[in-house]
Amino acid sequence: MLSLFEACHLSYHGDDILNDALAFTISHLESIEKKKVSPNLVKQVSHALHQPIQKGLPRLEARRYIQFYQEEPSHNEVLLSLAKLDFNSLQEQHQKELGNLTRWWKDIDIEREFPFARDRLGELYVWMLGIYFEPVYEIARGIVTKMMVILSILDDIYDVYGTLEELELFTEAIERWDVDAKEGLPKCMQVFYKTLLDFYDEIGNELARKGRSYRLFYAKEVMKIQVRAYLAEAKWFHHSHVPTMEEYMPIALISIGSQLTFVTAFLGMGDIVTKDAFDWLLSSDPRIVKASQVIGRLMNDIAGHKVYKSYTSEQHLLI
Ligand SMILES: [Mg+2]
Repeated sequence: MLSLFEACHLSYHGDDILNDALAFTISHLESIEKKKVSPNLVKQVSHALHQPIQKGLPRLEARRYIQFYQEEPSHNEVLLSLAKLDFNSLQEQHQKELGNLTRWWKDIDIEREFPFARDRLGELYVWMLGIYFEPVYEIARGIVTKMMVILSILDDIYDVYGTLEELELFTEAIERWDVDAKEGLPKCMQVFYKTLLDFYDEIGNELARKGRSYRLFYAKEVMKIQVRAYLAEAKWFHHSHVPTMEEYMPIALISIGSQLTFVTAFLGMGDIVTKDAFDWLLSSDPRIVKASQVIGRLMNDIAGHKVYKSYTSEQHLLI
C-alpha cells in the first residue's frame, strides 16, 4: 500500500487511475491500526504522508530510507552496506564542494561588503542538490549555487538596501553589462557589480573551455529579466503601491527566480542541453516552467506571510 502510494506521485494530469489510487492509498494509510503493524512501518507511513519521496530532496530521502530499511528485519545486508557506502562517499564529495564554495564566499567578504544581506551559502548548496546531486554535475552545481547566493544578495539590495534612484541606476548598469557602468553607484553596488561580472567571466571561461560559449548570452539575458522584475517590485514598494493580483503575478513569477534557476542549472551541463533548450526556456513561456513559478511563488508568499505576521514592526522583513 505504501509503495503504491509513492508510485502514485508519478502520475500525469488527467491520469484518473493513479489519482483514484492515490486517494485510496491515503485513506487506507491514514487509518492503519498502529498496534497491528511494526513501529518502523508506522514511522515510515507517517513520514510518507507528510513528505512523499517524489516531492522530497533525493539525498535527504535516501538518508531517511536507509534508516527505515535497516530496521526492517528482512533487509538484505549487502544491499544495505552498498547503500551506506554510496551515501557516505557521495556526501564526502559534497562536503569538499561546499568547502571550495565557502572559500569563494569568504573572499567576497559578505559581512563587510554587504552587512544587510543574508548568509545562505550552506542552505542554498543543499537546496541545489535537489536539482542534481550526482558527482558528474560538480561544475554545474558550483555554478548554480554561486548564482543563487549572488541572487540572494541581489534580492536584498533591491528589497532593503537601495533607494529607488540608486536601484534604477543599478538596473541600467546591469542592462549595459559593462564594467564602466558601475561609476556613480554607491560603493556596495559597485562591489556587487564587480562580483557579478567576475562571476560571469568565470562562467564564460568554463563554457569556452568546453566549446559552449553560446550559453553565456542566455545567462546574461535571464539576469536582466530578473533585475527588471526586482526593480518593478521596488517601485511598488517605494511608491507604497499595493498591486492587484493581475499586476502582481506576471512580475512575481519572474522575481521568484525559477526561470533564472533553470537557465543557470543548464549552463554547466553537457551536450544533452542544446541551444534549442535555452530558446525554449527563455522565449516560449513553457507551461512546465509557468507551473513551477506559480507553485514556487505562492508557497513562498504563504510562508512569507506567516513570517510577516510573527515579526514585530521594527524588524526588517527579508523575503
Ligand atoms: Mg525580493
